[in-house]
Amino acid sequence: MQSAADILRQHIRTVPDWPQPGVQFRDITPVLQDPVCFRLLVQTLVVRYMPRDIDVVAGIDARGFILGAVVAHELNVGFVPVRKKGKLPFKTVSEEYELEYGSATVELHTDAVKTGDRVLLVDDLIATGGTMMAAKKLIERLGGTIVEGAAIVDLPELGGSALLRAAGLPLFTLVDYA
Ligand code: AMP
Repeated sequence: MQSAADILRQHIRTVPDWPQPGVQFRDITPVLQDPVCFRLLVQTLVVRYMPRDIDVVAGIDARGFILGAVVAHELNVGFVPVRKKGKLPFKTVSEEYELEYGSATVELHTDAVKTGDRVLLVDDLIATGGTMMAAKKLIERLGGTIVEGAAIVDLPELGGSALLRAAGLPLFTLVDYA
């Protein structure tokens, strides 16, 4: 029998040289498009996190919103968005991080996480880990504890997952591209 990871891998589309030459873009939209595969993904995360006393799911802009919101709904907890700079209307905390060229900033509403909240952090993919590291800092600045960072895809060669684990963030990923 095929594992959930095998089925997910078959539904991830690799688009070479997008958005720029040299990047292999791992497109997870076919996973969402296939109802059986999407359900399998959601169920895998729900079964893993149902017993872990999650208080809130934080999803990272933008594909982390799609997956995170469904998982939050199934876990019967709230969902909060970690957004790119300038999109959240209320008071925010923000973290800047380095990209290959330049920098980016992510933000979180100050009331999104309360002291002591057990947070599940969700994105589609970990590359350099910069985005998830910045999200981790935001949640911790608000007093939250991250139970785990979950992503569909890990690109271990870019070192992000190792960096995140070394910084004390437990990770769960389903499909690796070496
Ligand atoms: P990073 O901060 O380098 O770990 O990048 C992770 C974020 O960028 C995630 O939100 C991904 O959606 C996106 N991303 C980075 N590299 C890729 C890639 N090769 N394919 C798909 N998405 C990517």
